[in-house]
Amino acid sequence: MKTTLPLLLAALSVSAFADDLGYTDTPLIPGTKWHVHDSGRPQPVIITPGEFPTQEKASTAPSDATVLFDGTDLSKWKSGGGEAKWKLENGAMVASGGDLQTKDEFGPDFQLHVEWTAPTPPTGKSQGRGNSGIFLFGRYEIQVLDNYENQTYPDGQATAIYGYMPPQVNASRKPGEWQTYDIICEGPRFKEGKLEKPMVVTVLHNGVVTQNHTVLIGETPHRQVGTYHAHGEKGPIRLQDHGSPTRYRSIWIRDLKMPTAEDIGAGPQIGK
Ligand code: MG
Repeated sequence: MKTTLPLLLAALSVSAFADDLGYTDTPLIPGTKWHVHDSGRPQPVIITPGEFPTQEKASTAPSDATVLFDGTDLSKWKSGGGEAKWKLENGAMVASGGDLQTKDEFGPDFQLHVEWTAPTPPTGKSQGRGNSGIFLFGRYEIQVLDNYENQTYPDGQATAIYGYMPPQVNASRKPGEWQTYDIICEGPRFKEGKLEKPMVVTVLHNGVVTQNHTVLIGETPHRQVGTYHAHGEKGPIRLQDHGSPTRYRSIWIRDLKMPTAEDIGAGPQIGK
């Protein structure tokens, strides 16, 4: 009998939430039309997440992603305006025969998942070992490099914003082991040919944050300071063939929704 009151209270509490998912008698979030815990606020879209990758098995994509490569064919890709030339081997595509670029364009804001492995046995050193790269909008390179027991200039290491920002840590696995990049990209905005908002990139290398909301200085040329050149809000994903047979398997991309002014409202009260 001692448990009757708590059980009754729990039942009432559950039924109250079941009838009304939240509250409308709470304060408004400043600058928005939403009350704190507002039950009328739009529900997040339900998706099915994919499987995490293991060394033996590639990840599967979330249900709202566009699959760019799942190990079976190169139909989403082209090379130099023609057919994609990379070799397909054992569920992976191998860098060879020039850069590979998506036929479709993506942006302005997206999440990109890439799995890759460096060539074995490793050959060369510094930038000559397992060099490839992922160019967002076809022009901003997130470096792919066999950085395991292989030093090079910091702004050219694995997950560097090439020529600008080194990764926070070197989270590289051995060549031959599968590695993951998860890239969260807020694309740049241009207005009348001028930069209006720079590109912002966050990268996780093997699940470790290596770029945290890094604001890009511009494009990522070799031996030069990068600058911006105005382009559209969408662009291709390009994979670099730098002469190393880097292998890629699961690659998928999904659009990102950025919070609207209506979502944000007045925001935090800085200085108060
Ligand atoms: Mg590269």
